Amino acid sequence: MKYFSTRGDGTSVSFEEAVLTGLAPDGGLFIPDAIPLPPPGWKESWASYSFQQLSEAVLSLYIDESEIPRADLRDLVERSYSTFRAPEITPLKRLNPQLYVLELFHGPTYAFKDVALQFLGNLFEYFLKRRNAKKAPGEEKEKLTVVGATSGDTGSAAIYGLRNKENISIFILHPKGKVSPIQEAQMTTVTDANVHNIAVQGTFDDCQDIVKALFSDREFNATHKLGAINSINWARILAQTVYYFLAYFSVRSQLPQGAEIQFVVPTGNFGDILAGYYAKRMGVPMAQLVVATNANDILARFWASGRYEKVESAAEGNSMETLPVNGASDGKQATDASGVKETLSPAMDILVSSNFERLLWYLAAEANQGADAVMRAGRTVADWMGKMKTDGRVTVPTQVLDLARRDFTARSVSDQQTLATIERWYDEGPYIADPHTAVGLTAVDLLPKQPDLIRVVLSTAHPAKFSEAVEKALSSHKDFNFENDVTPEEFKGLLHKERRVIDVPAAEIELVKQVIEEEAVKMKAGAQNTSI
Ligand SMILES: *Cc1c(COP(=O)(O)O)cnc(C)c1O
Repeated sequence: MKYFSTRGDGTSVSFEEAVLTGLAPDGGLFIPDAIPLPPPGWKESWASYSFQQLSEAVLSLYIDESEIPRADLRDLVERSYSTFRAPEITPLKRLNPQLYVLELFHGPTYAFKDVALQFLGNLFEYFLKRRNAKKAPGEEKEKLTVVGATSGDTGSAAIYGLRNKENISIFILHPKGKVSPIQEAQMTTVTDANVHNIAVQGTFDDCQDIVKALFSDREFNATHKLGAINSINWARILAQTVYYFLAYFSVRSQLPQGAEIQFVVPTGNFGDILAGYYAKRMGVPMAQLVVATNANDILARFWASGRYEKVESAAEGNSMETLPVNGASDGKQATDASGVKETLSPAMDILVSSNFERLLWYLAAEANQGADAVMRAGRTVADWMGKMKTDGRVTVPTQVLDLARRDFTARSVSDQQTLATIERWYDEGPYIADPHTAVGLTAVDLLPKQPDLIRVVLSTAHPAKFSEAVEKALSSHKDFNFENDVTPEEFKGLLHKERRVIDVPAAEIELVKQVIEEEAVKMKAGAQNTSI
């Protein structure tokens, strides 16, 4: 299996190259040159597989043995999921006969991103080790410096994915004092020598700008071999396809005759739900996937109108909509400089959805069938993405929109609805949902009632990570106590553990560069000491 860019002509690279480079040189995202089908009879032969066995089975369809021998892949998978607290890795909870929650938050940082990042960290280490083993004695080792910015939610999953990995160091920038105490504790209590938390005196946008500037600084990038682990990395999508298979097998026996599963996915950058799309294309039986967004509803607007646009165009407004989007825009939300709305489900606060480009490629290819389909799809996507960059919007042809509607439907959800849903499920479950999961649960209420569907909402975070929303929703319940009912013991201990954080007193790229350079020198000295 080879990989090519969504904006390219089909020129392909290996799995290793796609994973290590992340973004294609032309700015596109890597996709596999075909979507493989599981072996005949998989619905029986895989039925009793564990998460790890399914992971090995599915991933091996996308990674040639010549790139990663099967035994190595098995070992990578085993190690990646040995850090999870639940034996099922992603357990399924039944809320009622028609509704399940697929809990993806039993990894080390209590967030769904652990599922992919635990694997990605091991994969990076595996590839680097293999490259370095081929070097002559004394030749400089290949290293990777991962740099990222976080507003709090996702930095810890990246840190836990890469902590203590050989030849990799990770620098995570966060705005000082602007992340929640528990999220700050999660990140800064990781004291492994290769992990560097940088607290920047500034905003999240400042942090993000610095990271972008570092990546576009050629000299610095070449010296430090900067690596990104953001959600566009192909390995992250791939790792996430597995739980759709697992959930299908678990729910299958509960399905009444003729009924189907429908997955409802709280969505931001479209990585989680895109994994569902691959599972669907691979043959996992399912109804339309449901995109559930918060007030940052670019995707819900796309499925309503066929326009993919950063900001809803004033001239056309809602009157043209042909499908209900359901009142997310309550207009009271704070909006940051880039136009992102701040919501109670911050991990989904996005302006554009980075992985959506991959779906656009499949839609363009299907609409453009025939000779040169790959070439023409690449050209079409490059053109659409160019329009997004220059105009902030693009409208796809009706045929493309129809294809998108065949496999997906979308709903957006306001903060007010999110809070009401958390409260309702506390009463009815009782189940305490985090605000992202609650966006998914609300989308279920906004969909038509269909007795022939069993709906599975993907639960993307433990409620303890998002205390603001949960406490707000349940504040009137006298019997509710966040500390007792929600907070895991592990979190309570975190607040008292040793911390390591580097303060950067101003949002200036030169100061951050200095930190990275100093740490690189220290790492080098440390490596020499241990080899003496
Ligand atoms: C990242 C994240 C999401 C959104 O997932 P995408 O793959 O970006 O769509 C939803 N919920 C939580 C808690 C997340 O961390």
